[in-house]
Amino acid sequence: MNAPLTEQAVEHERRALTETAGAVVPPARAPEAEWLAAAQRVAQIAAQHADHVDREARFPVEAFDALKAERLLSAMVPERFGGAGLSLADVATVCETLAHGCASTAMIYAMHQIQVACIAQHGSAVPWQQHVLTRLVEQQWLLASATSEENIGGSMRTSACAVEVNDGRFRIEKMAPTISYGAHADGILVTARRTAESPASDQVLIVTLLGDLELDKRGTWDAMGMRGTCSEGFRLVAGGVAEQILPTPFADIADQTMLPVSHTLWAAVWTGVASDAVNRAKAFFRAQARAKPGSVPPAGMRLATAVGLLQMMQARLAVALDAARAAHRARAAGAGSDAPLSAMLNFASDMNTLKTSISSTALDVVQEVLMICGMAGYKNGTEYSVGRHLRDLHSAPLMINNDRIAQNTASLLLAQRPTGPGRA
Ligand SMILES: Cc1cc2nc3c(=O)[nH]c(=O)nc-3n(C[C@H](O)[C@H](O)[C@H](O)COP(=O)(O)OP(=O)(O)OC[C@H]3O[C@@H](n4cnc5c(N)ncnc54)[C@H](O)[C@@H]3O)c2cc1C
Repeated sequence: MNAPLTEQAVEHERRALTETAGAVVPPARAPEAEWLAAAQRVAQIAAQHADHVDREARFPVEAFDALKAERLLSAMVPERFGGAGLSLADVATVCETLAHGCASTAMIYAMHQIQVACIAQHGSAVPWQQHVLTRLVEQQWLLASATSEENIGGSMRTSACAVEVNDGRFRIEKMAPTISYGAHADGILVTARRTAESPASDQVLIVTLLGDLELDKRGTWDAMGMRGTCSEGFRLVAGGVAEQILPTPFADIADQTMLPVSHTLWAAVWTGVASDAVNRAKAFFRAQARAKPGSVPPAGMRLATAVGLLQMMQARLAVALDAARAAHRARAAGAGSDAPLSAMLNFASDMNTLKTSISSTALDVVQEVLMICGMAGYKNGTEYSVGRHLRDLHSAPLMINNDRIAQNTASLLLAQRPTGPGRA
């Protein structure tokens, strides 16, 4: 039996084979490195257009053309459907990278991946849903979400509208106050009551596709931040075959997949936005120091505070991503392949505090950056501008209101047993 090859030996072997074949030898890179390099290329494009996207409150077309060209929209689709099968942790890294260039681009990308995760986790045994995943890979489809509803507010776990199913076909009509990039999506995942008789909390999640989807725009999106998400309101009417309704109750989809994936990917986006702002503060600080050699500029204390807060965010995110990586490895190895993602991603309360802590700390970080950069940060169009970052991040505590989440966390904590040292 051959001894296992070291990484160096594998690389040597690979080079020898390729050189024999007369090919140019590109440096071997881990698949994750390829995806990261692709995300960095897109982030550069997104950054070039971010101010215009923000000013005009328009969809970041250039960034999404680039994401499609790099085949990043199917990054999280399992390999058996033709996707890259990236882990949640890798996709979070892509989100964080994109957020350095344009927060709206990163948030749209994150929201799309949340929908992909819901279909992959809860629909992959259904032929119609399998077909959607395959088509998504081929066509680089973009998926959106309609969970919120008029008169319901941010209570995602209740619906007023109900799906009608007759002779294997369904029809749904929903008044959706906010569907980010709804007008640009190829499909929308919609929550609704299971039947007209069902209570508000007995919900299903329906995968609706362009072609069988009617969207009447109700109002515009002239918001404080995240302006490129084009999160307009719509009257949504859709129909199709009953297989489009995911078989898992929405309560389980939300607990097992939608919330943990949302909170992780959103946290990655907000960390990326804050990190880009801190880079601007560092550049400003260095320019100040160069202007007066021999002295430490007065904003040094604030910069140290901002960097410390950012590092806490990164550390908190890293804990969540390590758990996600371990879950991905366990699934790939077949161990726990049937276990819901949430069971492997720590407690729901941990996911809640990930969201609430990172969303509020990101704002604190950028506020510090604004104090460091002063007018150069306050004005738009300078290399130190952070107005867009600050406005974009003000959406973070609202995207499922932090007060609402904190109330839920408090209930979960009541149910938890006291723990020993080392855990909250
Ligand atoms: C940038 C952005 C993009 C979005 N994209 C989408 C999308 O694509 N699809 C979608 O469906 N939705 C989307 N949303 C909507 C979002 O997910 C929430 O549903 C929405 O922000 C909540 O709206 P709200 O603040 O009016 O309601 P609520 O969360 O209901 O808040 C209203 C008020 O209720 C208070 N409140 C707090 N806790 C509670 C509680 N426990 N019970 C009752 N009230 C409480 C709040 O403090 C607040 O004062 C998006 C939001 C943003 C900011």
